[in-house]
Amino acid sequence: MAQEKPSAVQLCGFSDYLEAELGQRVDLFRWDEADGAARASFLSAAGQTCRLVVTGGHIGCPNDLIDSLPALELIAINGVGYDKVDIPHAASKSVTVSNTPDVLTDDVADLAVGLVIALRRGIASGDAHVRKGDWPQSEVPLGRKVSGSRFGVLGLGRIGHAIADRCAPFGEVGYWSRSQKDVPFHYCATAQELAHWSDVLIVACAATPDTEKLVDASLLDALGEEGVLVNVARGSVVDEQAVITALASGKLAGAALDVFEKEPQVPEALIDSDRTLLTPHVGSATVETRKAMADLVLANVDAVLAGNSATTPVKL
Ligand code: NAP
Repeated sequence: MAQEKPSAVQLCGFSDYLEAELGQRVDLFRWDEADGAARASFLSAAGQTCRLVVTGGHIGCPNDLIDSLPALELIAINGVGYDKVDIPHAASKSVTVSNTPDVLTDDVADLAVGLVIALRRGIASGDAHVRKGDWPQSEVPLGRKVSGSRFGVLGLGRIGHAIADRCAPFGEVGYWSRSQKDVPFHYCATAQELAHWSDVLIVACAATPDTEKLVDASLLDALGEEGVLVNVARGSVVDEQAVITALASGKLAGAALDVFEKEPQVPEALIDSDRTLLTPHVGSATVETRKAMADLVLANVDAVLAGNSATTPVKL
């Protein structure tokens, strides 16, 4: 008799590849597509032996779901950010949380640099100008020079470091992290100091209660009216309303944002502004990296199903 597959909860849609591979290993319950009655019925039956939750970094896993799954061993996140999971709570229930670090670092750093250049040189607006047929009638406004700028990286973790390495050939690089690192970049002891030093401030730190709205009105003031902000970390790290106000009053030259406070909702004021460049949280969105992330999710799932430790557990 064929052995029954272990039960797992899936909290959002994934690539066809990841869903098919997961389906080979586990019996997936699509929590996000189920109504209240279906969820209750799952929890009272298969949920009692469910060992895995598979989710996205932007979705996480609510504590009440963790509490409702008594056999839960692993929350496997398809992403590096784990801010939407209460890690201490999961640990208190002996649940491991895994993420997909390193494999997406290059892509997010590439995007950050692309956003800097596109924002400063008006690449998106130039493209729109040509497509609308406006070129014969009018010229686009001059951009601002990228080479020679001071690039400030807020959070010199894996992604921040990769951004710093990419910016170094363009100009001076500075950073803020909780501790000074052995790197050839200018260290600023506070985020405020870094903003004051920078022409371009690139946010790359983890989203935690400590970093919530770290980029606020006073930090934007320190960045100054010639400064530009790039955020590839999480929407929660930046006070979106403060950015809107600073852009509208000319106190900030521009903002390029890949992440937002209430994704996928983006405030009209950001959409309407001619000082913004907006992308829909696509830092890791390449064919190659999404495949590598999926393989890392599967490696974590396989390890835990085999009774071993997760491959890339989030450490407190
Ligand atoms: P990481 O290596 O863990 O780096 C996190 C950075 O945040 C470190 O520099 C760390 O400082 C800093 N940090 C500041 N305060 C912190 C606190 N209270 N707790 C923890 N860290 C704190 O992570 P990563 O792989 O570079 O990823 C960084 C972030 O990028 C992720 O958390 C995620 O939100 C975001 N991300 C976005 C996308 C996208 O599609 N846009 C894709 C992937 C990741 P120290 O140097 O002092 O430790």
